[in-house]
Amino acid sequence: MRARRAEEAQREGTRVRAVLEHVGIAVRDLDAALAFYRDALGLEVQAAEEVGSQRVRAHFVSVGASKLELLEATAPDSPIASALEKRGPGLHHITLRVDDLDAALAHLKARGVRLIDEHPRPGAGGSRVAFIHPSSAHGVLVELEQAPAAGARDMRVRRYTVGNLELISLCDGFLRLDGGAMFGIVPKPLWERKAPADDRNRVTLAMRPLVVRGARTMLIDAGLGDRQDAKFEEIYGVERERNLDHTLAEAGLAPEDIDIVLATHLHFDHAGGFTERTLGGAVRPRFPRAQYIVRRGEWEDATHTHERNRASYLADSFVPLAEAGVLQLVDEDRTIMPGVRVRRTGGHTQHHQMVLIESNGQAAAFAADLLPTLAHLPVAWVLGYDLYPVDTVSARKAFLAEAVRRDLLVFFEHDPAVAAGRIREAGGKRHIEPDI
Ligand SMILES: [Zn+2]
Ligand SMILES: [Zn+2]
Repeated sequence: MRARRAEEAQREGTRVRAVLEHVGIAVRDLDAALAFYRDALGLEVQAAEEVGSQRVRAHFVSVGASKLELLEATAPDSPIASALEKRGPGLHHITLRVDDLDAALAHLKARGVRLIDEHPRPGAGGSRVAFIHPSSAHGVLVELEQAPAAGARDMRVRRYTVGNLELISLCDGFLRLDGGAMFGIVPKPLWERKAPADDRNRVTLAMRPLVVRGARTMLIDAGLGDRQDAKFEEIYGVERERNLDHTLAEAGLAPEDIDIVLATHLHFDHAGGFTERTLGGAVRPRFPRAQYIVRRGEWEDATHTHERNRASYLADSFVPLAEAGVLQLVDEDRTIMPGVRVRRTGGHTQHHQMVLIESNGQAAAFAADLLPTLAHLPVAWVLGYDLYPVDTVSARKAFLAEAVRRDLLVFFEHDPAVAAGRIREAGGKRHIEPDI
């Protein structure tokens, strides 16, 4: 038995398992390229994405399990600008995803393949990448990419387009919660591979509020905020050196620009940032022009807590909203602004709601604590915090099927490394394709 395993392992070691992630195409005239790929071929063009460091704007086009990436130069010194100058528009690179980039590079090097990068360098979203020289790849620039490792973090501001709406993913830093509580009945040896625990058994979670710009400017959830004391920050391992203030400013927005603040629910890691403390010590709404929209049932629960849910609510995150007269309670699933509607999921709290964003045939979902991280993809990996775990199972099941069917861009509010992605199904198995 052991001998056969060793043999298999050796055979495995003689090849690089690579999956086509995307094909990069340099374009000079984006409108003309869209006229072909989107209009003539009828393919769906996903969100545009700025890669500032490369001076490139990327437009991903879905083609089954992989993608095309239309690349525009945003500055004369962009690598895409020089490629266009040298060779004109056309194939720029292909990207192959590998499980172990270091092993793949060692393997290729041993076979005399000429590498541009002998060592991996950081790619988007916590991934690692390395390029193979076209002279070894028969004229094609080949990028190898390894998905973000466990423990990787991404705190960038990310912009997406959904029809006529602009979505901007922000970050209010990170906190740590008990790993057992994050994965409920799942044994640690299983969850630990997806979410490494620190010496106090805590796993790292991001807080990622989302801006939706359309008829109005909306902020969905607002992270933890800054009213917590040192003891709280120690218990929850709070890291907010870079937080919502920074990422909002980086998105070109000021607190006054927010018209609507929408709450998925009122737990402190979602609603803590709804208010701020003034120099005089009073607590007031943090977004001075905003109306705050909260589900009525969630409001009732948050203002009438019991022993089991009390620790999750901090009254000064939301009570000052009612006092300031900026609170609007909604009773049912409905449209909050054109293209944005709420849907109750229950499960996590009885009135926990997710947000669906739809415009011009494209759609996204902000799932909040229904699907907080990539690791929560298995339907039974339900948070120990959930008050109604069986409801989470059925809501998550229905949502995942919908996400696959409708090709939803799904936002993961708590994932430390991946802000958004798409749920794919192949051979009866689901996986998440991070949008990185
Ligand atoms: Zn919650
Ligand atoms: Zn949460």
